[in-house]
Amino acid sequence: AGEIQAQDVDGLKVHMPLCMEHLHNELRREKHTRHGSRMQYGLFLKGIGLSLEQALLFWQMAFEKLTPDQFNKQYAYNVRHLYGMEGKRTDYTPYSCRHIIQNNAPGPGDHHGCPFRHFSAPNLRATLAGHNVDDFDTEDIMTLVAGKHYQIACTRYYEVTRAKMLNISTDNLKGGTLNAQGNSMVASQEIIEHPNQFFEQSFLLMK
Ligand code: SF4
Repeated sequence: AGEIQAQDVDGLKVHMPLCMEHLHNELRREKHTRHGSRMQYGLFLKGIGLSLEQALLFWQMAFEKLTPDQFNKQYAYNVRHLYGMEGKRTDYTPYSCRHIIQNNAPGPGDHHGCPFRHFSAPNLRATLAGHNVDDFDTEDIMTLVAGKHYQIACTRYYEVTRAKMLNISTDNLKGGTLNAQGNSMVASQEIIEHPNQFFEQSFLLMK
């Protein structure tokens, strides 16, 4: 992905997997985030092409209850840290699904994590309904989740929601992108392994 501006992020929500969309929505609602959320979402945004400068702008605008001075004192270091500009200068890479699913489970009031792994079944069902996933596909996804196949559930979610957005059959979406003819299956089914993979596939698909 090319350079993305801070003000573009809301418009890109449509391409985000549920984990990142949830973090985005909660950030907008609370106008604040906890550390775990900032790590998971901040690194994702870095991965989709938000520069350090734009990230500082994005987070400062998001924390709208703080003055720029308060933001700079309390959080700018943290954002620069994600970009490897502070501390040990580790250039952190965005978290993979496996990392998000297996590490640092969210506690009460936390919004990081993977909805397929960490949401309660009723909450996940409500979230799917909110994204126009029909009953048949919802049962399919819930069965995958019950079998602990979280990433396959996410892949199924990707297929049914993208197909609906494009008004095409999910058969045309196996592997995430349309082939040259735009109408037959891409040979290998790719499982979503990374939130940034979900985003990039969706972004390219709808271009
Ligand atoms: Fe996010 Fe990966 Fe979970 Fe999908 S499977 S919601 S991309 S962590």
